[in-house]
Amino acid sequence: MTYDFVVIGGGVSGLSAAAILAKAGRRVVVVEESETPGPVMRGFQFSGSYFETGFHYAGALAPGEPLHRFFAYHGLWDELTPLSLNPAGFDQVRCREDGRRFDFPVGYCRLQEALSEAFPQESSGISAYLRAVRDAAAQMPFLNLEAQTDAGTLLGLTQGKTLQEVLDGFLTDRRLKALLGVHSLLYGNPPEKVAFGFHAGVIDGYYRSAHTLAEGGRGVVDALVRRLKEQGGEIRCGQGARKLILGGDGEVKGVALEDGARLDCQGCILTLHPRLLPRLVPDGVFRPVYKRRLQGLRETLSGFLLFGCSAGPLTTLQGRNLILLDSYSGSGDASLECRPLFVAGSPAESKREGHGLVAILPAKIEETAAWAESTPRGGRPAGYTTFKSEMQQRLLSRIERECPELVGKIGKCSGATPLTVRDFSNNPWGGLYGAGHEVGQFNPQPRTRIPNLFMSGQAVAAPGLLGAVLASFMTCGEILGHEQLRMELKRCS
Ligand SMILES: Cc1cc2nc3c(=O)[nH]c(=O)nc-3n(C[C@H](O)[C@H](O)[C@H](O)COP(=O)(O)OP(=O)(O)OC[C@H]3O[C@@H](n4cnc5c(N)ncnc54)[C@H](O)[C@@H]3O)c2cc1C
Repeated sequence: MTYDFVVIGGGVSGLSAAAILAKAGRRVVVVEESETPGPVMRGFQFSGSYFETGFHYAGALAPGEPLHRFFAYHGLWDELTPLSLNPAGFDQVRCREDGRRFDFPVGYCRLQEALSEAFPQESSGISAYLRAVRDAAAQMPFLNLEAQTDAGTLLGLTQGKTLQEVLDGFLTDRRLKALLGVHSLLYGNPPEKVAFGFHAGVIDGYYRSAHTLAEGGRGVVDALVRRLKEQGGEIRCGQGARKLILGGDGEVKGVALEDGARLDCQGCILTLHPRLLPRLVPDGVFRPVYKRRLQGLRETLSGFLLFGCSAGPLTTLQGRNLILLDSYSGSGDASLECRPLFVAGSPAESKREGHGLVAILPAKIEETAAWAESTPRGGRPAGYTTFKSEMQQRLLSRIERECPELVGKIGKCSGATPLTVRDFSNNPWGGLYGAGHEVGQFNPQPRTRIPNLFMSGQAVAAPGLLGAVLASFMTCGEILGHEQLRMELKRCS
């Protein structure tokens, strides 16, 4: 049997792309290296509780907004329940430097008011900055269904000024600039590196609305898998793609799997880390310059994670996340205690088992270089285990120091390091969000030089649930026609 498309990688982007193609009548199979689809988004069980891994909250999930529309297109809303985060403050930033707290409210007007109240002398700069975010986001194809998919505009947005340059242009107070830059945690690249237009595309959705899902990240994955199968699509887990098989005309004819099986196809979409692409393609197919560009893609930050069980929902984390800052100065390379720490709780009304919190601290994979050769299957050395439990303890102590209301509320804990991220996401470089989006770096486009080989996933559009799903629409638009997909999306609400 010959498939119309083999989709390599069964994360949300691959599953969404496959479901779009299956809905359009294409014969599709998804190939996922892990034993279960969506290993990054799926979360895991620990000591009777379910913990999120690659999904805590998302923007743009309110009716009429892009992610809500994408889910409606896939018919996911029968299975998913959005839970609105606190409109008065979905993210609370607490800074030790001056003991101040700032709540990010939902909605541009409220945000403008809250920021202007906290920094009255900056009111006009705040207004100009927020307008610039809205304007840039409105130019993003598929986020705004009226925006045209033209390469020039996109290039301008992703290669223009950095976020830091724009903040410096509008504002003077370093604390305010740090607050507005804090959401760079959502894509793992600092304000000095990320393009303002890219930042706007991500943050605009959160400024408009902030939700989590009662069913969690695994709910999204499971619902997408069901839609895919209902439409005749297939999924094969537990076998990675090893090589693309090219015909004499240079087009993809099939995909060879690690177990030697071969899937014949008319076309292929890759959603894995783009630095892995050259390994799948026979030598000499890509020009050296393209290969070097892919292999040179810089990685986003990785992280240390803490998963802590609690007897019930943690009031302080109900309907909001905490972002703990040691100071308003950049602290990328600082000690663990000085880096920004993101903390999310499990919602009281979630359909998940047990309760607890997840904390994520940015880190570099080099911090675990001593154990880089080890894997979960082969077993980790004792030194690593000790290091990991010390790390967990330091994260917990910091949370308890900065959130006294949580003291004594966290019971059993588990943790993850950049090596865990690397091994569970099948990304050898271990970034939380894969390849970064930064000024001066040219990420792959949906179309490759091989006519029937396409790329999708977080490296193409943006990381996050929204970015990964958006990427699937951008890529499938190249295959099915952008106008056609846009028209279908406009009918979805
Ligand atoms: C700790 C953490 C917290 C996060 N929090 C949030 C959040 O709160 N909100 C949010 O919106 N986003 C969040 N994200 C980001 C979000 O999870 C990702 O951006 C998104 O899941 C990426 O989806 P993807 O399909 O592009 O990539 P992936 O999910 O990485 O999919 C690629 C897939 O390819 C597979 N693969 C690799 N090699 C092969 C091969 N050779 N053959 C077959 N398959 C292969 C991998 O196993 C993987 O499943 C978080 C991520 C992390 C790590």
